[in-house]
Amino acid sequence: MPNFSDRVERISISGIREVFEAAGDDAINLGLGQPDFPTPDHARRAAVDAIEAGKADAYTENKGTRSLREAIAEKHRTDQGIDLDPSNVIATAGGSEALHVALEAHVDDGDEVLIPDPGFVSYDALTKLTGAEPVPVPLRDDLTIDPAAIEAAITDDTEAFVVNSPGNPTGAVSSEDDVREFARIADEHDVLCVSDEVYEYTVFDGDHRSPMEFSETDNVVVINSASKLFSMTGWRLGWVYGSAERVDRMLRVHQYAQACASAPAQYAAEAALRGDRGIVDEMTASFERRRDLLLDGFDDIGIDCPTPQGAFYAMPRVPEGFVDECLDRGVVVVPGEAFGEGGRGHARISYATDESELREALDVMADAYEAAK
Ligand code: PLP
Repeated sequence: MPNFSDRVERISISGIREVFEAAGDDAINLGLGQPDFPTPDHARRAAVDAIEAGKADAYTENKGTRSLREAIAEKHRTDQGIDLDPSNVIATAGGSEALHVALEAHVDDGDEVLIPDPGFVSYDALTKLTGAEPVPVPLRDDLTIDPAAIEAAITDDTEAFVVNSPGNPTGAVSSEDDVREFARIADEHDVLCVSDEVYEYTVFDGDHRSPMEFSETDNVVVINSASKLFSMTGWRLGWVYGSAERVDRMLRVHQYAQACASAPAQYAAEAALRGDRGIVDEMTASFERRRDLLLDGFDDIGIDCPTPQGAFYAMPRVPEGFVDECLDRGVVVVPGEAFGEGGRGHARISYATDESELREALDVMADAYEAAK
C-alpha cells in the first residue's frame, strides 16, 4: 500500500456524494448545496469579453486583480460599513480555498479549532488536514450557534473558532447580539474567529451581521464567495480578508498552492459585484417563498423544524430511517449526521429546487415520515 500522509488518512470523501450516487437519475434531489439560478448575464459576459480581449490569459497578481479586490472592498464598505483596504483581500478558488488558507495559516499540530456541530463538512476535514483537532460545539435547540457554548469550549489549546451565518446545514441566522458575542470572545480570549459568510445575501428576516463589524482587535478573518451570492458555484471564485499581517500569512499558502484564482472567474465576479443586484433580490425572494412552502408542508405532515432564516436549507427533526425511506421513494435528502454527530436525528433539506418539485417531494416525505415513525 502506498504511504499516505497521516493527515490525509484522517479524512474521507464526504458522505453527501454517496447519497446522490445511491439515488436514481430521476430522483428529486433536495441534497444539492447550490442555488438553482443561472449566473447573471453581465458576469458571464465580462468573462467572455476578458477572454476575447486576451486579458485572461496570464496569471494575475497572487491576491487577484486590483480591480476585483477594489470591488470586493467596496461591497463590504457598502453592505456592512467595514473599512476594508483592497490590499487586505485575497481572491481564492471559492470559499473552500479561502477556508483552507485561513486555517493553514493560523493553526498547528495539536491546536484546537472549535467548529459548529452540525456544521459545513469542510470545517472538520480542513482542520484535520492542518494537523489540528476539530472540537465540535453543539448548537442551540433552534440550531443557531451558541456563543456561550463556544466560550465554554475554549481551552489553552484553542487557536480558532469557526462561525457560519447564515448557516449550512441549518439555515440559521445569528442575531446581532450573538455576532457581537463572537467578536467579544475573539477579542477577550485572543483566539481567531473565522467567520464564514458565503450565504450573506440570503437572509429573510433581519440583517446579516459580521463579527468583523464589532471586533476591536484583528482577531477576525472573513470568508466569502461569489458561489452563493451570485449563483456562481462553477466559477470557483471566493475571497478572504483580514488584517495585513494575517493576509500576509494566508498569501504564503495561497501563493504556493494556487498562484492566483482563475482569471476569467475574477472578471466575472467583479462584474457581478459591480452590476445590478436585481438577481440577488429575486433569488432571496424566491428562496423565502420556497422556505414557506416547505415549512407549511412540514406542519401538515407533523414534522418539527426550526424556522430557517436564511440560506436555502432546512433541518427538520426526523425519525431514524426517514432518509432511507425518502431515498427508496426517489427523494434525496442528506442525513444530519453527515454534518457531525450533533446533526443526528435531523435531515438537511435543500430547497433550491422548483416549487412543483418541492410539492411532489413533500408528498413523498409525508409517506416516508409515516413509514419511519
Ligand atoms: N462555506 C459554506 C458554509 C458552504 O456551504 C460552502 C459550500 O457549500 C462553502 C463555504 C464553499 O463554497 P465555495 O467553495 O463554492 O465558494
